[in-house]
Amino acid sequence: MRIDSLREVPDIDLETDICIVGSGPAGLTIAAELAGTPWRVLVLESGGCLRDPDIDRLNDIENVGAARARPHRDARNRVLGGSSDTWSGRCGYLDEIDFACRPWVPGSGWPIRAEEAAGVATHRAARRGQP
Ligand SMILES: Cc1cc2nc3c(=O)[nH]c(=O)nc-3n(C[C@H](O)[C@H](O)[C@H](O)COP(=O)(O)OP(=O)(O)OC[C@H]3O[C@@H](n4cnc5c(N)ncnc54)[C@H](O)[C@@H]3O)c2cc1C
Repeated sequence: MRIDSLREVPDIDLETDICIVGSGPAGLTIAAELAGTPWRVLVLESGGCLRDPDIDRLNDIENVGAARARPHRDARNRVLGGSSDTWSGRCGYLDEIDFACRPWVPGSGWPIRAEEAAGVATHRAARRGQP
């Protein structure tokens, strides 16, 4: 069920077991994983179905570093689907090297290996009856 709290029900009380803040790829992935479980899941999104300049203003920043190449509003979207609203839609699996510690990439190196992440993905697909 989708509720537009600004227009349809301004003073609604919502009760849930799990509240996910933000409907970007991260929030919707978690919501999709929780679908079909006994828990009631609420995704709370600050934007609407379409971008709105008034709501976009929530993302305004003061840039104190190097000048940005593109307007910051192109980089983060306050809308259903989050920043995936900006792209043409391209998703892929991570490569082995994405998990590795690389001296030339500060903060690189995950505490899990690529095959562990792949194992989780395979397990979830099997649970959904997908190949
Ligand atoms: C131009 C561009 C192209 C890209 N292309 C690709 C691509 O091809 N493939 C790819 O995998 N990635 C791509 N990315 C990166 C990808 O969009 C981001 O990594 C991804 O959107 C991050 O997801 P997220 O859910 O963490 O955050 P976001 O997508 O930023 O979502 C956060 C959501 O939370 C909402 N929100 C924030 N604060 C609150 C609050 N207080 N209350 C309620 N809601 C709130 C926002 O409105 C937003 O909907 C691209 C990014 C950009 C900018």
